[in-house]
Amino acid sequence: MRLKSRIADLIDAQGPMSVAQFMTIALLDPQDGYYATRDPIGASGDFTTAPEVSQMFGEMVGLWLVQAWADQGCPKNPRLVELGPGRGTLMADILRAAAVAPEFLADLDIVMIEASPVLQAIQAEKLRGAGADISWQAQFDDSLSDRPLFLVANEFFDALPVRQYVKTERGWCERMVTVATEGLRRGDLAFALAPVPVPRPTIPEDREAAPDGGVYEHSPAGLALAEEIARIVAVKGGAALVIDYGYDAVTGFGETLQAVGGHEFAEVLAEPGADDLSAHVDFAALAQAGKRGGAHVVGPVTQGAFLATIGITERAEQLVKSHPAEADALIQATERLIGAQQMGTLFKAIAFVPPVLSEVAGFAP
Ligand code: SAH
Repeated sequence: MRLKSRIADLIDAQGPMSVAQFMTIALLDPQDGYYATRDPIGASGDFTTAPEVSQMFGEMVGLWLVQAWADQGCPKNPRLVELGPGRGTLMADILRAAAVAPEFLADLDIVMIEASPVLQAIQAEKLRGAGADISWQAQFDDSLSDRPLFLVANEFFDALPVRQYVKTERGWCERMVTVATEGLRRGDLAFALAPVPVPRPTIPEDREAAPDGGVYEHSPAGLALAEEIARIVAVKGGAALVIDYGYDAVTGFGETLQAVGGHEFAEVLAEPGADDLSAHVDFAALAQAGKRGGAHVVGPVTQGAFLATIGITERAEQLVKSHPAEADALIQATERLIGAQQMGTLFKAIAFVPPVLSEVAGFAP
């Protein structure tokens, strides 16, 4: 509970912090942050992701990237960037599948954006034998704007900090994290509303209909990053594919920030640094950010539709033929990735491409 008492000390010294600041510290504090101190992915961790379900996921993404590159006339010196590469599994599967296009791989500069030193080390180990030129950065920055940009982000944007605003009779007030004064133990954290409402333009018009207590969640960091990526893709060429769980229209006025530990839901403020924190991705806002950056935006479509359209079922059949003993596992993995009750509908895919491309594989026109 070291991180919790450090956060309480910070609040004592400086006053309440935004939910976004709390999330940033809980996930990325260099000493005690959730991602900074562990490998959270897989059966023994807190959650499992699509690339860890089956190699087919990364293979399909790799073929999609090669197709997007070919559709643009095979630009020279492409750069492949992955945001938040976890265990490095997705990149390993992408590179294996991309071997169908040796010219794509030949001049490829690969950059992994990973804030966690622990996960950077796991990724380097996993990709040691991949025979590719790979470098690591903690953040996406301007150095990545000089080549055609092929970018993938799976379950990355959900980890970026969100700010929350709550509708009250005074107007929309930001939700803050403070130190509890009553009832709880000293040092426990609690939510409290900022007393002064935010200026009106902060809240999009379509949220104004919210009842009192309704919540508007907003990820300024995620949207700024999406816009920057879209701008590079629009100017230099390339394609950015974002896959995550989330929503593509305003479906209600609830919050989606959640904590998960050991594959179970937990209280958001209970154990900062020990539980994963994430929020559903607002795909409508992501699409707007992509357009502001000048890219042609396709999707969102469901992960199930995306993977099925680009041929995951055919790939599974092929694998069943060559590995008959694994037929059941392959069928189950396919169902897990595309099944409506599993990851197929909750997860969505969206892509940013240069304005000259009108048709993009996996996204119905
Ligand atoms: N894409 C992987 C892992 C998803 S978990 C998969 O699908 O399995 C989220 C990943 O993003 C982790 O690697 C985490 O360390 C990284 N991450 C989270 N927030 C980050 C940030 N602000 N900057 C860079 N990396 C971040």
